[in-house]
Amino acid sequence: MKKVHIVSHSHWDREWYFNLEDSNLLLGENLTYLMGVLENREDYPSYSFDAQASIIDEYLNIYPENKNRLKKLITNKKIFVGPWYTQADSLLINKESLIRNLQYGIDICENFGHSMSVGYLPDIFGQNQYLPSIFKGFEIDDAIFQRGVYTDQLKGNLNFKWSSPDGIEVRANNIYLGYGPGKFLDSSDEYIEGKLLPMLKKLEILNTDCEDLLLPAGGDQVLIREYFPKVIEELNQKNLGYEFILHGRTSLKIR
Ligand SMILES: [Zn+2]
Repeated sequence: MKKVHIVSHSHWDREWYFNLEDSNLLLGENLTYLMGVLENREDYPSYSFDAQASIIDEYLNIYPENKNRLKKLITNKKIFVGPWYTQADSLLINKESLIRNLQYGIDICENFGHSMSVGYLPDIFGQNQYLPSIFKGFEIDDAIFQRGVYTDQLKGNLNFKWSSPDGIEVRANNIYLGYGPGKFLDSSDEYIEGKLLPMLKKLEILNTDCEDLLLPAGGDQVLIREYFPKVIEELNQKNLGYEFILHGRTSLKIR
C-alpha cells in the first residue's frame, strides 16, 4: 500500500505579487495565526513555511515580541524553514548570488533552531543547471522542484538523480502536480472520487519504484488548514488503498 505524505504548507510570494505593505499585512496575520494553532495542537505535527528565511526576518521586524515563540516552534520542528533566504528565480541570477542566498538562509534558520536540508523550489520558472552542485556544497542531498523539466525527460519517474555539468548530483523529486494538489483536501466522496483518487493514480504511475507519494497541501499565502488531522483520519478510515500521513517531524532530514 502506497503511503501518501501530506505536507501542509504556505507558499509565500514575497517579491512580486504584492507591494511590501500588503505582503507584510498578510504575513503578520498568517504567521501569527499559524503559531497560535501549532502551539495548541498536539495532533498537528508540523507545517512547512516555504523554505525562505526572508519572511521570518520580515515578520520579526514587525513583531519582535514573537521571536521566542517562533524560535521555539522552529527548534521543535513544528515549523520547517530554510534553506533559502529568498525563493529567487535561479535562471535569472548569478551562481554567486544563489550561493549567498543559501548561506544567509541557512545561517538565519539555524539560529532559529534548524534549517531544512532540502533544495525546495516550488514555484520558480526554471532551474539553474548548477543547483545540484551548489546544494551539495551546503551538504544538501535532496531537491524538490516543479518547473524546468519536460514530462518526456522524466522517463516515467518523478524521482531521479539530477546532475550538474560538473557531474555532482543530488536526489530530486519533481512535484509534477505543483505545490498545491492537496490544498483543498477533503474526505467527501465527491472530492475523493473527483479529485483525490485521480491525482493519486497519476502520481502512482510516476512513482512505480517507490512506496511513498508526496502530496503537497498548501497554496499561495494560505492560512493553516486546521482540519487536516481530522480529514486525514477520515480518509484512512475509508480504506482507499492508500495510507495517508500528515507530515511529521521525523520524516524529513534536517540540520
Ligand atoms: Zn509563487
